[in-house]
Amino acid sequence: MPSPWNRGLRAPLAARLWDKIDVGSGDPAQCWEFTGNWRSKFGYGRIRDENGNCVQAHVAMYELYGGEIPDGLWLLHECDNPACCNPSHMHPGTAAENRWDQFQHGAYAGEAD
Ligand SMILES: [Zn+2]
Repeated sequence: MPSPWNRGLRAPLAARLWDKIDVGSGDPAQCWEFTGNWRSKFGYGRIRDENGNCVQAHVAMYELYGGEIPDGLWLLHECDNPACCNPSHMHPGTAAENRWDQFQHGAYAGEAD
């Protein structure tokens, strides 16, 4: 049995992301929740990129929308919803801000770099 997240690996990342994100009515004010099964312990959606690397779904969405995360900064949720992949609910922030984010969500198990 192939792993569920490997099955569609050859599909473009964007297509697989849209498949796993519930945008509701598309209202930018609403959270676009990751609906896939593969999540970190704290609710961050995960997906594999074209190279098979594990990436965070919200980061992939942000970059898909042309967002850039400067070196050394983290992509932080403004809506306090780790499953949210709405790029308008995120902004790059400092590690210090991210520590606050970690504090709010509990320890963070994602990949830092
Ligand atoms: Zn949100």
